[in-house]
Amino acid sequence: GSEGQRCEEEGPFDNQVSMLNRCQGKYMVTLIEGDGIGPEISQSVKDIFSAASAPIKWESVDVTPTLKDGKTVIPDAAIASVTRNSIALKGPLATPVGKGHVSLNLTLRRTFGLFANVRPCKSIQGYKTPYDNVDTVLIRENTEGEYSGIEHVVVDGVVQSIKLITREASERVLRYAFQYARDVGRNKVRAVHKATIMKMSDGLFLSCARKISKEFPDVEFDAELLDNACLKIVSDPTPYNDKVLVMPNLYGDILSDMCAGLIGGLGLTPSGNISKDVAIFEAVHGSAPDIAGKALANPTALLLSSIMMLQHMGLYEHAEKIQNAIFKVLAEGKTITGDLGGKAKTHEYADAVIKAL
Ligand code: NAD
Repeated sequence: GSEGQRCEEEGPFDNQVSMLNRCQGKYMVTLIEGDGIGPEISQSVKDIFSAASAPIKWESVDVTPTLKDGKTVIPDAAIASVTRNSIALKGPLATPVGKGHVSLNLTLRRTFGLFANVRPCKSIQGYKTPYDNVDTVLIRENTEGEYSGIEHVVVDGVVQSIKLITREASERVLRYAFQYARDVGRNKVRAVHKATIMKMSDGLFLSCARKISKEFPDVEFDAELLDNACLKIVSDPTPYNDKVLVMPNLYGDILSDMCAGLIGGLGLTPSGNISKDVAIFEAVHGSAPDIAGKALANPTALLLSSIMMLQHMGLYEHAEKIQNAIFKVLAEGKTITGDLGGKAKTHEYADAVIKAL
């Protein structure tokens, strides 16, 4: 259990992230294996990290939801573990069906105030897609916009959904985007918006973007209309390759899946959910119940999420080593899983990555 693995913080920290929990020279990371294919793809990550001598000590927690006073809650031990370690890797969680249950993913987002969703979209060498040179990063505001959940019936046959945009949430995600751009050396931030129509709400987001850009004079800033961005990026993704795109919630939800399509689909797409104190990394795909338990799952998206995690923790050398091995195996194309057109089982692919380290 997690209690047994509790470890006092060790310092000083030679790391970008100041509040990391360390134990016996390793960084403690909460592992939420998740449902369906979650345990299988988590096993691949654990095996590859161990073979690569990545300095990570996993603290596995169970997040099976329970209903308390009509609300979905996550077990206290799981929340305590994520809070203590600041970093978590998460497998997919099936959304429980039934009255009273809200999505566990949403519960996690609310519990930890995960305000930014970071979705890098980078072509995978050797995997054939219409474009082989996509390399952009989307950052989506994760807490408000059309997803605020403020809806009501006005009269029979008429409903209103409120799109909520606040200066506080906008500035928070924009500042994160500019800082991220600076940290990863992209140095170009583009706000995606629809302020021509949503003059007040997107107008506020855009004016916040202009204001925050002044705090980062070394980072170029511009803005683009959402519809134009959609048209352009599927016509030719090249001009987006050096940029960080930042946008309100709904636009980010749609545009990030569109960009995932450009690189071969959700099975290859990692993501990070960022809050002030905590970062949770996860694959974009779900629990794939149709193939669970059959060793057919492709662990690449969770692996790439774990590489984002290592980068976030400042462990760049380990990140690069593992990423190079993954790209090598995918480019060779001999030991790849069924979704990519191969015949390899999950663990055979993981073994091939280990050999390529
Ligand atoms: P899904 O992503 O689980 O599956 C869609 C299709 O893609 C399936 O055919 C599946 O077999 C395939 N697929 C997905 N990941 C794969 C992988 N790694 N390797 C090979 N094939 C893969 O989407 P769904 O079926 O709509 O959702 C299933 C469950 O997952 C639902 O309960 C849903 O709520 C949940 N879900 C969770 C998350 C999350 O935890 N972040 C995200 C999306 C969906």
